[in-house]
Amino acid sequence: SATIINGKAIAAELRARVAAQVPAFRDATGRAPGLAVVLVGEDAASAVYVRNKGRATREAGMESIEHRLPDTTTTAELLDLVGRLNADPAVDGILVQLPLPAAVDTQAVIEAIDPDKDVDGFHPVNAGRLATGLDGLVPCTPLGCILLLRTIHPHLAGLEAVVVGRSNIVGKPMAQLLLRESCTVTVVHSRTRDAFAHIRQADIVVAAVGIPGFVPAAAIKPGATVIDVGINRTDTGLVGDVDFAAASEVAGAITPVPGGVGPMTIACLLRNTLVAAARREGVSLDLATIDGAAA
Ligand code: NAD
Repeated sequence: SATIINGKAIAAELRARVAAQVPAFRDATGRAPGLAVVLVGEDAASAVYVRNKGRATREAGMESIEHRLPDTTTTAELLDLVGRLNADPAVDGILVQLPLPAAVDTQAVIEAIDPDKDVDGFHPVNAGRLATGLDGLVPCTPLGCILLLRTIHPHLAGLEAVVVGRSNIVGKPMAQLLLRESCTVTVVHSRTRDAFAHIRQADIVVAAVGIPGFVPAAAIKPGATVIDVGINRTDTGLVGDVDFAAASEVAGAITPVPGGVGPMTIACLLRNTLVAAARREGVSLDLATIDGAAA
């Protein structure tokens, strides 16, 4: 049966490699890298994410700057706060926790963030940089998926990859990153005629659908590597987008939920904060070492 990809352990290693770079950054600049996290409203899941991000930031030796705002906050007030964070030299990374309340213009807020502080990588400038092969900031969850894949496949070039889902947060940047790794990439989505027919061809399946157990074992090619991004709350607890129990009898390697992609997202946020800080200050970083790139 499949190798279970231990995202928790791999993320802990990435966090340690990031933390190991912080003293040199401090020596060079006289300060720690700073991450500002903005939480608007009372969404319970968002509050947990923000708390975990703050703790992980401090554990890595970085400064966490947290702004909690009421759910009555207007777009103008948020734009004003983002403007102040853009101008604050102690802030290297800005993360506005999504989803924002329905009355807020989310796209305007994303576009107000300085692209060089956009540690979520959601700004259109960073999406464009990713699509055109320029250095930028890459969305944390898909980046985490690539780092997990590299532990199984030191060489990704030429592999058939199928991404299930086309969101701006996961599916689309995932497809771009796999393309950057020279995979042959197919994206299937809600309007695809026969998603399973495509998934069955894949050496690598990345599922980001948001439907519990959407990918059945029968859709997985024997030996394939399966990365399950889904986080779905059900009566029986957290489950992914893949039927894990059955799929792990067919796949060559698979991520569990929880303990797979989730921990990598936060580790990559710290990694992006360090990268943003180093670029802003002109401090050089050995990214291949930090990312634990295959030799
Ligand atoms: P989304 O709802 O924005 O996108 C879902 C995508 O699935 C859409 O592009 C849609 O086309 C596709 N889809 C829907 N039904 C389909 C079908 N029947 N066949 C094929 N494709 C279909 O969701 P998202 O933000 O991309 O998140 C996806 C999942 O990943 C969610 O469970 C979310 O909670 C989880 N997630 C996890 C992390 C993490 O840190 N692990 C981060 C972000 C999102």
